[in-house]
Amino acid sequence: MTIGATLEFHGAAGEVTGSCTLVRTDKARILIDFGMFQGSPEDEARNAVAPPIDFASLDAVVVTHAHIDHCGRLAMLPSLGFKGRIYATTATHELLGRVLRSSARLQRGRVYERASGTSPWSRALFAGEEPGPAPKFPPAQRLFDIPDVRDTMDAIEGVPLDREVKIAPLVSLVFRNAGHTPGAAGAELTVGAGAARRRLYFTGDLGPHRAGAVSLLAAPHHPVDADVVVVESTNGERPRKVHADTDETLAAIVADAARRKLKVLAPVFALGRAQLLVHRLARLHARGLMHGLNVYVDSPMAVHGIESLYRHPEYLAPDIAAAVRAGEAPLWFPELHYVLSKRESMAIDRMVHGGIILAGSGFMDAGPMLRHLEESIDRPDCLLLLGGYQPEDGFASRIERGAERAQFSSGKVIPIRATTARVEGLSGHAYQEDLIEWFRRFKAKPSRVVLNHGTEPARAALAAKLRDELALECALPARGEPLAV
Ligand SMILES: [Zn+2]
Repeated sequence: MTIGATLEFHGAAGEVTGSCTLVRTDKARILIDFGMFQGSPEDEARNAVAPPIDFASLDAVVVTHAHIDHCGRLAMLPSLGFKGRIYATTATHELLGRVLRSSARLQRGRVYERASGTSPWSRALFAGEEPGPAPKFPPAQRLFDIPDVRDTMDAIEGVPLDREVKIAPLVSLVFRNAGHTPGAAGAELTVGAGAARRRLYFTGDLGPHRAGAVSLLAAPHHPVDADVVVVESTNGERPRKVHADTDETLAAIVADAARRKLKVLAPVFALGRAQLLVHRLARLHARGLMHGLNVYVDSPMAVHGIESLYRHPEYLAPDIAAAVRAGEAPLWFPELHYVLSKRESMAIDRMVHGGIILAGSGFMDAGPMLRHLEESIDRPDCLLLLGGYQPEDGFASRIERGAERAQFSSGKVIPIRATTARVEGLSGHAYQEDLIEWFRRFKAKPSRVVLNHGTEPARAALAAKLRDELALECALPARGEPLAV
């Protein structure tokens, strides 16, 4: 049975960035997410090419969360002719202004850097590998500027979780908690009227759900029925990792860092891992296990993510939400410091001995983390605190595999004397078992499951499992291919 709608995936079809899905019904056209392609400079160049969508005729745009691969191109909408409303959760709405403004500033900087050959980069070298010339970066293009961000923000309507809002003729929307990051939500669309009403559920990115495990964020919402589900598959081929010992691993690292006065560099993504790590460190503090170690959150965006959770406890696990509502501050401890400017960031670089710096980027290939690495990677008292996925041939993976020197854009080639440690169990994405469990809870089986936001092997592996174990009909659409559902 079909529900009389057509879906077109203009990004995140067989890949993990550039989320952009067009929903067409007889009466309405809606875009779900308008994210950036990320990764290589070639991926970035794809952002300047608008997808073949008549933006002027769209009724509405729905944003699932404030990660750049889901929201990063929203501020292109005014120049593409879009005149309608943009819907996001109230928490995401609050975060989007900062995300889009900083993206506009970053683009401006990048255009200058690429034109003047000053783009920051780094390279970890194994024994026998020689330092080489700077990589060739293609020219960067600006996608939007601050006035576009202002126009975009004016078009956004913040909607609380679980509240129904009409967004187009015969289409209503309810945001459901995704358990992924502060503000992240699945979009539940109800299309049609009377007996012809049908439901489409877009998960956006879906958080893990481990019953009984320590968790900062609330478990994702489990819909009981939906005719069509569009599900992310980032971790579609990865088995769930059980890390009951996350706190104990972290406690041992912290104790060692305090005793040996280590400078700990923890690469984090500003929305997600930063808050999860601060939560775990706050738990250690409550147990008297921080040994006075200072922790610096070197990312204004990560700080906003923390503050967002105080304003929106509905995204928090029930026990933590109750503490916030009672006026407590479960994400605070006296040694936690917010670093809000580049000047402060440079200052902590010089002064931290026996402390933890949380900074971006999470893949150690950009942002203040690059500067911290250049400052300290040759010190044996520097510890890189890693966790979760790192790109196979990325900086962090190469260091873990024994790279001996690091080359930076300043021209310096520095011996790597820093050591590494890993702490797991802090992923913001559901693993394969989580996703299967999520579908198992449907009371009525969806007539169609569509997999996006995962590499080809990841979504193929998840589709095979969903077919075998739950007899679900799965589609894996190619980019731009219309899919009648
Ligand atoms: Zn995300």
